[in-house]
Amino acid sequence: MVEKLFWKDAYLRDFSAKVTLVNGNSVTLDRTAFYPTGGGQPHDTGIITVKGKGHNVIEVVHSGDEILHILDSVDGIAPGDEAAGHINWERRNRLMRYHTAIHMLSATVSVHYPGSKFTGGMIYEDKAHADFDCPSLNRDIASKIVEELQQRISESHPVSSKFISPEEASLMPGLVKTKPGEELTKSLSEIRIVDISDVDIQADGGTHVANTIELGKVRLSKFDNKGAHRKRIEITLEY
Ligand SMILES: [Zn+2]
Repeated sequence: MVEKLFWKDAYLRDFSAKVTLVNGNSVTLDRTAFYPTGGGQPHDTGIITVKGKGHNVIEVVHSGDEILHILDSVDGIAPGDEAAGHINWERRNRLMRYHTAIHMLSATVSVHYPGSKFTGGMIYEDKAHADFDCPSLNRDIASKIVEELQQRISESHPVSSKFISPEEASLMPGLVKTKPGEELTKSLSEIRIVDISDVDIQADGGTHVANTIELGKVRLSKFDNKGAHRKRIEITLEY
C-alpha cells in the first residue's frame, strides 16, 4: 500500500520514493505527495525524475490501495528505481485553498439552513462550487452567506486532521456529509477527519490549508437554480 505523504503534510512539494511498478504509461511508488483525483478535488500535476530524466505527471488516479501516476513517458523507468517527485505547487495550493473554502461554505449554509444537505461539489484551479438541497436558498441569501464566509475566513481558524476509528466516528453525527461518503466510511478500518476549528469537522481524504486566513478574499461568482431543491453556489478566491 502506498504511503500518502499529502495526508501527513499538504505543503510537501518535493519528495523521494521508490518505483514499485511500471504498467503501460503509469508508475506506482512506495510513497507519494501526488494527490489522486477524488472527493471533488482534481489530481496534482508535476514531475517525477528517474535516473536524471524528468517525466511529466499528467494524471494521478487511485487504483485499489495504490496510486497510479500517469506519465508522458515511462522510458527507462523500472521497478526499484529511485524517483524524485516535484509537485506543481501553484495548482495544488489553489486546489487546497478551494477545498478548504468549500468546507467553510457548506458549514455556513448549514448555520442558516440546519435541515439543508450538501449534495456535492467540484473544485477547479480558479473556482469551486457546492450544491445544496435547500429549496429556499436564493441569490440574495447566497450573497449574504458568502459575506459571512469571508468573515469566518478572516477569523483565522486553524485546520487540522487526524485518524479515528469507525466506532468513534459513529458517535459524531454529521461527520459524513454525502451518501457516497457514508458508503466509503463503512468499509474503512480508520477514518481521516478534517477539523476547521469552531467551523466544521468532517470525514475527508483531501488536502487543506493549515489556517483559514490563507484563503484570502472570497466572492460569490455565480448562483444557479439547478431545480426546485438543488441550488448551486460558486465561489472565486482572489489571487
Ligand atoms: Zn476536505
